[in-house]
Amino acid sequence: MLTAEQVRRLREDTPGCREVIHFNNAGAALMPRPVIDATIDHLKLESRIGGYEAADAAEEFIEGAYDAVARLIGAERDEIAIVENATRAWDMAFYSIPFKPGDRILTSMSEYASNVISFLQVARRSGVTVEVVPNDEHGQMSVAALREMMDDRVRLIAVSHIPTNGGLIQPVAEIGKVAREAGVFYLVDACQSVGQVPIDVRAIGCDMLSATSRKYLRGPRGVGFLYVRREIVEQIEPVFLDLHAATWVAPDRYEIRGDARRFENWESNIAGKIGMGVAAAYAMAVGVEAGSARLRSLAEMLRQRICEIPGGAVHDLGVERGGIVSFTLDGVDPEAIKQRLAAERINVTVSTVASTRYDMTARGLERVVRASPHYYNTEEEVDRLVEVVASMA
Ligand SMILES: *Cc1c(COP(=O)(O)O)cnc(C)c1O
Repeated sequence: MLTAEQVRRLREDTPGCREVIHFNNAGAALMPRPVIDATIDHLKLESRIGGYEAADAAEEFIEGAYDAVARLIGAERDEIAIVENATRAWDMAFYSIPFKPGDRILTSMSEYASNVISFLQVARRSGVTVEVVPNDEHGQMSVAALREMMDDRVRLIAVSHIPTNGGLIQPVAEIGKVAREAGVFYLVDACQSVGQVPIDVRAIGCDMLSATSRKYLRGPRGVGFLYVRREIVEQIEPVFLDLHAATWVAPDRYEIRGDARRFENWESNIAGKIGMGVAAAYAMAVGVEAGSARLRSLAEMLRQRICEIPGGAVHDLGVERGGIVSFTLDGVDPEAIKQRLAAERINVTVSTVASTRYDMTARGLERVVRASPHYYNTEEEVDRLVEVVASMA
């Protein structure tokens, strides 16, 4: 756990902490100063000497981003592709899997809308089926049910590690064991979990894992990454290719790169890449384990306090809960709570049924307030948030 002195210094290193009370880290966290500086410095360098020339000059930092991201998740640098965002990273993995009619995709109740939309598109196009593994009594994916659903038509297990709409943490390593035993593709959406909880891709046993820079990792917007396990990278031909992912070697022939960068494309936000690398290094310097313990204890404190408000209800599922707190207040529109908090410069969001339809529909939820602390938030900020919400009860 971080000490009070460490938290004070981390806040000092985060200019946004002086402007707002930020409980929207599941949307986009406040960047720390080294990330801001590295990102802006690169833009300035581009303006001074030219974009291509700046990329050459910054090669060490660009390559350093691959090293930092790889180290953060227990991967090797050649297993990392850096792309525009988590959705594109996930898409490059998912759409590249060669499905055949009759293949089955197994996914979770808490799956993210963009992923499900892609499943449905491929189901319609390729004749695969999409099946949702039921939850266990704690509201997480039932690994026993998953085991029973396995057969030789299952091609892919795709799961969001931490959903967009709450504190649930899926048992991704247990799911990984099932995937490994069956030898099926296993794709993990770690968009909310990278930076929020420690990640080790070998322990999870996934083939592919996608994430973003701007959420709990505290990097800039417009950049994300994809991990692809080295042993399978050459088995998967990317759905899109360009002159970066492949080389045009003869008039009628091209060769695809042998590393995960085959899932990238040539043009990219170089400043964003550098910024994400610095954010990954920063997360490791703070300590993901220590940061996670603190943000989760703030989240637990917030849950407890919300439950003490008359009409307050917390909706987070799972055995061990993460940093995303979802709640409602009887008879009060979550949007009104968000607006009221915004007037006090307290940032939260509203998560709607359209983002996680399987889950929200099953629980009869239309909209919830989503408050997502980070390690740099304080107990006093939690008090302030609760005070404003309580005043609306
Ligand atoms: C935010 C989110 C995404 C999408 O990430 P982008 O970087 O916006 O593409 C995917 N999955 C989950 C669970 C998310 O919360």
